[in-house]
Amino acid sequence: MSAASQARRRRGRGDLEIAAFERGHHVSYSACGIPFLVGGMVDDVDVLVARMPQVFRDDHAIDVHLSHEVSAIDLDRRQLTVWDAAAGAERREGFDQLVVATGAVPVRPPLPGADGRGIHGVQVLDDGVRLRDLLLAERPARAVVVGGGYIGLEMAEAFVLRGVEVSVVERGPHPMGTLDPDMGALVADALRGLGIAVFEREAVTGFETSDGRVTAVVTDARTLPTDMVILGLGVRPNVALAAGAGIAVGPSGGIAVDQCMRTRSDGVWAAGDCVESFHRVSRQPVVIALGTHANKQGRVAGINIGGGYATFPGVVGTAATKVCDYEVARTGLNEAQATAAGFRHVSAVVDSTTRAGYYPGSNPIKVKLIAERRSGRLLGGQIIGREGAGKRIDVIATALWNEMTVFDMLNLDLSYAPPFSGVWDPLLVAARAAIRAGR
Ligand SMILES: Cc1cc2nc3c(=O)[nH]c(=O)nc-3n(C[C@H](O)[C@H](O)[C@H](O)COP(=O)(O)OP(=O)(O)OC[C@H]3O[C@@H](n4cnc5c(N)ncnc54)[C@H](O)[C@@H]3O)c2cc1C
Repeated sequence: MSAASQARRRRGRGDLEIAAFERGHHVSYSACGIPFLVGGMVDDVDVLVARMPQVFRDDHAIDVHLSHEVSAIDLDRRQLTVWDAAAGAERREGFDQLVVATGAVPVRPPLPGADGRGIHGVQVLDDGVRLRDLLLAERPARAVVVGGGYIGLEMAEAFVLRGVEVSVVERGPHPMGTLDPDMGALVADALRGLGIAVFEREAVTGFETSDGRVTAVVTDARTLPTDMVILGLGVRPNVALAAGAGIAVGPSGGIAVDQCMRTRSDGVWAAGDCVESFHRVSRQPVVIALGTHANKQGRVAGINIGGGYATFPGVVGTAATKVCDYEVARTGLNEAQATAAGFRHVSAVVDSTTRAGYYPGSNPIKVKLIAERRSGRLLGGQIIGREGAGKRIDVIATALWNEMTVFDMLNLDLSYAPPFSGVWDPLLVAARAAIRAGR
């Protein structure tokens, strides 16, 4: 819808016909808000919808078709095959320019019992609404979250807020696998402190069911009885439709696009979770499914389709999440990724506070910086702390984007007043420590 809106801004109703096909019941919604809907922090699903289909139709002449699934793209005939679920009929729709924005699909393991009722993936707003309604109707006592990525952890928080006993099973050594092990271990400690059972280095081998309904999660170490399961095993780009039409997919598994969001097929653009992006630190194509990228990429595609010029210059992998009181954020490369990208690096971890130590509400914050050996070029950063910690990642992300070194960072003119930080902001303390580590 970002692409459609931008194209419309540049080309009026009489000049360009725009239609959007969505197989679900919502467009222009915040999937990022799903955990808060499920957890009850947001009551009304409509507040997660930025713009209703009617507004797109009436104010922007964008014809939104809900419950319409595109099942095939014919690039030679410039036609889509569309299944209209309400009418129970298939039809063809022509196009001159096409934007593929099919998002991502949650990974579902091919394990015994994985089709059982009560096992949920969370991806689109319809999933969130269904899960919230089930939680309220069935009042489960126990839930198991399989996979400790940020979506799994945000869903764990949602269940805790609903008074459900939650376990998280993670195959890797710690939850939040995009963090280094030392920082990930702190996330696990924080989760346990919230009463969430965390089982690390345990792979799920199957699900027990009774009458088709899940009753337990079986790992290689134990059986966890449960009433509900959330799959938080990550997502993969939803490229089946595009690939089926011969639209090129890149090495990381997302649709290959140039910096204008053009695919390698004439007149076909792609944006969002279904594409791969250029990582500005590792210089590699990556798939990182985040709403921040999706919105920017859609905007770029729409501007270009509308006859303007815009580019999407890549990502540095910045993400933040919150589990109850704990804020967790990361950007750039972690140590393993820095090694894999060929960097020799040093790292430093510091403990500080979010406000001056004496100021009421001062919270602990831990900051980790990873820098290239010798040059001091910043490669990545990770933050864990309580309120006031997470958003500090944006300064590190800005420094990374501009290829700054830890020496540059130490001199940054960051704000200071006791309600906001110590006289040395935790990021500057971390830069100092990283410089020392590199000597
Ligand atoms: C629980 C959760 C929390 C998140 N939190 C954050 C966050 O805090 N910060 C952040 O940056 N990102 C977050 N994200 C990720 C973010 O929501 C996605 O990156 C973003 O929605 C991607 O936008 P998109 O338009 O590419 O895909 P989507 O928003 O997934 O939209 C794709 C749409 O295409 C439809 N579709 C797919 N195939 C077809 C077809 N063949 N025919 C018709 N329609 C089709 C789907 O139904 C879907 O509605 C979160 C995601 C989830 C699930």
